[in-house]
Amino acid sequence: MKYEVVNINKVGDRRILIIYTGGTFGMVLDESGSLAPFDFGQVVERIPELMSLSIQLAAISFPTPIDSSNITSDDWKNLCNIIADNYEQYDGFVILHGTDTMAYTASMLSFMLEGLNKPVILTGAQMPIGSVRSDARENLITALEIASMVEDGIPIVSEVCIYFNFILLRGNRSQKIRSSQFAAFESENYPYLAEAGISIEFNHSVLRPYQKNSSLKVNSDINPNITILKIFPGITESAVRGTIFASNLDGLILESFGSGNTMKSEWFLNCLREAVEAGLIVLNVSQCLGGEVMQGRYETSKKLNEIGVLSGGDITTEAAATKLMLLLGSEKDRKVLKQKLSSPMNGEMDE
Ligand code: ASP
Repeated sequence: MKYEVVNINKVGDRRILIIYTGGTFGMVLDESGSLAPFDFGQVVERIPELMSLSIQLAAISFPTPIDSSNITSDDWKNLCNIIADNYEQYDGFVILHGTDTMAYTASMLSFMLEGLNKPVILTGAQMPIGSVRSDARENLITALEIASMVEDGIPIVSEVCIYFNFILLRGNRSQKIRSSQFAAFESENYPYLAEAGISIEFNHSVLRPYQKNSSLKVNSDINPNITILKIFPGITESAVRGTIFASNLDGLILESFGSGNTMKSEWFLNCLREAVEAGLIVLNVSQCLGGEVMQGRYETSKKLNEIGVLSGGDITTEAAATKLMLLLGSEKDRKVLKQKLSSPMNGEMDE
């Protein structure tokens, strides 16, 4: 992707690069009355406060800003390449992104950007910057402040996060859980990294420790041949078979009930067994927002261990799906792949 760096503000010591991908943040109503993204130049005009921040700001915009429902693995690679190309010149990165798939992008970036030791903060808005009650201004300005903050010469945050509606969340622990409230994101299984009020209060003990001598490496081999099967009472065998066996999949995220439970019907367990025997990696995650998969706790999950279904522990579906795509693309040794899936790669699950 070809991109141009536009300087916005040259005041202060810290240098932050804003990467504008689109999303409601910068949308306007088109002729038909639907919200569609507009270019970043118009965003800056609507936030003159950016010029008064003591941060050196520059911006790169996707050539055609997108609704994040259209995000693809190529966009994830482009985002990582932009960060890698500009890594030495900037102290941190703020990505403006639609909220719909922000948790997927934050999760994927946390896995792709190995050795990251600078802040990468994703933010966006529930209402466009042009509307009077928009949350866009606060979200962007605080995300920029957080990305520029240092203590004893090192960045306070050195991981991929989402900042939204006064809270800072670990990116690969977050989920969009509300579509029409400003408090769109939560991370049920991990504490907030920071809360913004009159001052920004960091929860230092849960931030990823700064990696002093690490250098950035982009992992970009993604295998998207996976799917997510969310079970429900009454689901039919043909629906399950159709999902698992229709399209030569390499991986399956099984969204199960509660702490990892499924129906114990023969036909269902046989489908899973056949899938594992056919070489699919099957990872069990919970439909619940909080808590974890504990295979074997109930009779209804006991067989899964025997079949070879892997437990995703307390991982989110977003982190599970992106981690699976990345590991299927990059890890050829299946034993190692399974070990990596079942243990934390970058803070996305508990040990
Ligand atoms: N559909 C929009 C998007 O994800 C929603 C948003 O930005 O809030 O791009």
